[in-house]
Amino acid sequence: MTSSMKSLVSDDARYLKSFELFLERSSEHQCMQNFIHSELPEILQSIGNGASHLNVIGVGSGSGEIDLEMLSELHLKHPGATVDNEVVEPNPGQLHHYKDLVSKTPGLDYVKFNWNKMTSEEFEDEWKEKKMTKMADFIHMFQMLYYVKDPEATISFFRSLLNKNGKLLICLVSGKSGWRKLWQSYMGQLGHKRINQYVTTGHIKSLLDSKGVSYQSYELQSQMDITECFIEGDEKGELLLDFLTEVLHFSKTAPPELKAGVMELLHHPECSTDFENKVMFNNNIEVIVIDECL
Ligand code: SAH
Repeated sequence: MTSSMKSLVSDDARYLKSFELFLERSSEHQCMQNFIHSELPEILQSIGNGASHLNVIGVGSGSGEIDLEMLSELHLKHPGATVDNEVVEPNPGQLHHYKDLVSKTPGLDYVKFNWNKMTSEEFEDEWKEKKMTKMADFIHMFQMLYYVKDPEATISFFRSLLNKNGKLLICLVSGKSGWRKLWQSYMGQLGHKRINQYVTTGHIKSLLDSKGVSYQSYELQSQMDITECFIEGDEKGELLLDFLTEVLHFSKTAPPELKAGVMELLHHPECSTDFENKVMFNNNIEVIVIDECL
């Protein structure tokens, strides 16, 4: 990364603000919700083998909206089962929002929440230290593998925790999204020193293929309205640009040629389409479903 540019994740508050704006400007959560209500019930059908208790782990849960929707579908499929839900989330603000949401949501008596304010790597270390033998029926990691040091090791650890008929769900931006094009073109210049991984489901699927692990996958169509990014000096546009590039104050700190290149690419047909005077970025995401290790 050029010295004047800092990673967006170095500023917790601005990261959170940009993430919230991203959720407002995109259909990210809507398309996840569609998936949860249409495809997930079938996926969850076979877990647990009729047991009256299910163990769930949510990794990188954020503020919990998506997790609670998944729990509610799980409950509909397995109405008689109680649920032990491990929440693994290192950001204190997000965890606070999650707890708040739980306290305001009626009908969650069947769930016991265990709050783990830590990264997935710390969770793994603790799990191993305590020699835990608990197995999980359903583990999900939505939009979080970018932030771990070694996505492959993380997948392999959580997969090893799956109970018989257990399912591991991984959700990331799709290899067919505008994100992939953006990262492929600019990752060297935007942030080669950052901790984040520019990982898409395309990478994860190649990895699983090379290890002979079978999986199912679901491409979810999603768009993000990035029109404001093209209005010079627009505050929200600048915040969205920070989110897209993961560079703090990208507009103000990026060298002019880099900025011009990124702006041109964002409007490129491989990244976005023009629709009713709006520039819509391809924010397709994909869910990969992996079964227990046999
Ligand atoms: N799953 C939610 C939130 C995704 S944002 C959703 O789809 O809406 C990514 C989340 O991963 C953030 O809340 C962030 O705090 C968390 N995170 C970052 N690094 C992590 C790590 N190493 N282990 C676990 N979670 C992490």
